[in-house]
Amino acid sequence: MAQGIRRPHEAIDYDAMVRAYPPPPEYFEQGYYAAPEEIERVQLVRLRERAHRAYLIPFHRRRWDEAGFHPSHLKTLEDLWRAPYYTVDDIRESIEGSPPYGDYQAFSVDGVLTEPARIYMSGATTGAARPTLYTQWDREVGAILTARALYMFGIRPGDVVLNAWAYSTHNGAFSFDEALHRWLNCVVLTTSTGNVTSSRRQVQLARDYRATAILTTGDYMLRLADVAKEMGLDPLEDFNIRALPNIGDRDKLEAIWGVPSYQSYGFHEVQWVAVECPEREGLHVFEDAFAIQVVDPKTGERLPDGELGSLVVTELYKTGSAQFRYNIMDLSVLYPRGQCKCGSWLRRIGQFAGRGDNMVKLRGVNIWPEAVGEIVCDDPQMDPDYFVRAVRQGDRDEMVAHVVTRADRAAWGALKDAAEQRLRDRLGVKLSVELAAPGELDAMTETNTSPKPKRFRDERE
Ligand SMILES: [Zn+2]
Repeated sequence: MAQGIRRPHEAIDYDAMVRAYPPPPEYFEQGYYAAPEEIERVQLVRLRERAHRAYLIPFHRRRWDEAGFHPSHLKTLEDLWRAPYYTVDDIRESIEGSPPYGDYQAFSVDGVLTEPARIYMSGATTGAARPTLYTQWDREVGAILTARALYMFGIRPGDVVLNAWAYSTHNGAFSFDEALHRWLNCVVLTTSTGNVTSSRRQVQLARDYRATAILTTGDYMLRLADVAKEMGLDPLEDFNIRALPNIGDRDKLEAIWGVPSYQSYGFHEVQWVAVECPEREGLHVFEDAFAIQVVDPKTGERLPDGELGSLVVTELYKTGSAQFRYNIMDLSVLYPRGQCKCGSWLRRIGQFAGRGDNMVKLRGVNIWPEAVGEIVCDDPQMDPDYFVRAVRQGDRDEMVAHVVTRADRAAWGALKDAAEQRLRDRLGVKLSVELAAPGELDAMTETNTSPKPKRFRDERE
């Protein structure tokens, strides 16, 4: 070790890390099939250790002291319910109180000579960007979790893979890059988005280098299929694609590219949480790295297994910014523990079912933007790409649903009327619909820069 500098490769005991959080394919031969008692034994040990570390961080200590919670209260997994949760609003407040990092990080950039770190951000469009400082350990374990998800999608060690995500302040593209290169020995072609490497060039590279996956949105993957056809290529015959994006129009993607597409769940601060198995009956949580709870999005109260509510995520692996009972306000259900047909006992969550904090009361009716999206897109002439805005017009709250269509402009009037009629029929209130051509909503949805497209903005203030 150089004087006073601990370099990234010196900051981690890699053997210990791989034993604790096995990468694929080993993980899918052992940990994935662990017995329930073993899963929960490991969770409790890690939970207690995480709580003691989190208690050293001002953000958590303040909230825990106020709520009368102490890490020593964690005698069983059940005791996790005694800790208070927090939401993104608490994080925003923390940043406002001590900009720009907030007081929820476990260390500061002053210490990076001995604790090498990276910083990525989320949520830059609404308010201040939320920074996360990642230690080298956090990056590597996070990359292992991402590698597990990619393996489940169908990517195998040694594959050539195009990474068509935008390399930006967000960690999405980097997470894939690290997972592929460092834990799957894949050869990564970093094309970035269509603005950086043209779609024709992406198609050509995928074909020439026999890429098994192009990591991007489902929509862009469909666009690339169109471009391939324009170039005289057949997506089914002329490529070696074996894994598809986890978001987008699954049926269409599978039909056009001829391989299965699997769902997954994760977010910026903690990387990959859960991934669907071939049985397609829920997404298995990587329980060596997470404890998941579900609460009522309004009251924060515990919900019984199987009920739709907001996910509360506690990670069991990080050393940088702890996430301990983060009420992320993503809606899903938690299945009771049981053995899946695939053989795994890992608990499952349902598919992402919308945002818990986006509910808008419009003339007395509760409306979820995701439900609006589903209804406006329910027409073969619409793309599964939409954006909903809540606006103030005069002294009335109104909602505008923007939706993408490839139909000829001459047909737009009729399509708009039909979509507005569907909304009135199914929701019982009148909303206006605005049509858009492909790409026109990208700035609002951040579809090229964020792994989870934005679907809603409240513009009423
Ligand atoms: Zn399964």
